[in-house]
Amino acid sequence: MMKNSNNINLIIKRLKIKYKKEIHTILQHNSAWQLLVATMLSAQSKDTQVNKVTETLFKKYPNIEDYKNLNAMALYKYINTLGLYKNKARNIINASKYIIKNNKGVVPDSIDKLIKIKGIGRKTANVVLSNYFKKYEGIAIDTHCITVSNRLFLIKTSNSKKIEEILMCIIPKRDWGIITNLFIALGKDVCTAKKKYCERCVLNDLCPSNTTFKYNKNKLMNKVVK
Ligand code: SF4
Repeated sequence: MMKNSNNINLIIKRLKIKYKKEIHTILQHNSAWQLLVATMLSAQSKDTQVNKVTETLFKKYPNIEDYKNLNAMALYKYINTLGLYKNKARNIINASKYIIKNNKGVVPDSIDKLIKIKGIGRKTANVVLSNYFKKYEGIAIDTHCITVSNRLFLIKTSNSKKIEEILMCIIPKRDWGIITNLFIALGKDVCTAKKKYCERCVLNDLCPSNTTFKYNKNKLMNKVVK
């Protein structure tokens, strides 16, 4: 386990204060199905862009039943401003058919059942479980989580599955549902893939990758963790 895992509670505490508006997903939805669709659409797209798309899409097609007989072309015209929209359309239609056939049209509330559906990975499943069902079976890992966790020396890998396993060991379960959104907020604000703005970062005294002053190991190890 990496040394900075000792500071995880302090890291989370500061992020919760700094990014309190971003703790929960900003993806607009009125049902588990709508959150599932919005999350599937959000892969490699900005949440704000997805919200623009779903505002119109969910007015026209609000329910899971609306999608099962939908032609992919009909869906394209609503979502074609997003990357990979053809794949996303196909996966959404297939997911509706699968859930209607195998789960009476009810979005499953377990990770094992969700990831059986083609096009739904652990990240999408975890977002839906934690944000809609308030169930914490894992931690959604996206590119921001990979960047931030590595820079904070919480992990040293880019393998999403391994990162999820390690974070699940060091982060209290009560925070599994919010840590993704907090790391995404930090990643978008100051710890971007292209550039680090450590001078503005609320974790700069806890971060070994800080570029604004020499990282002080002793200081880090003596931090009081609450
Ligand atoms: S101090 Fe710098 S490298 Fe560390 S988390 Fe903050 S922005 Fe990222």
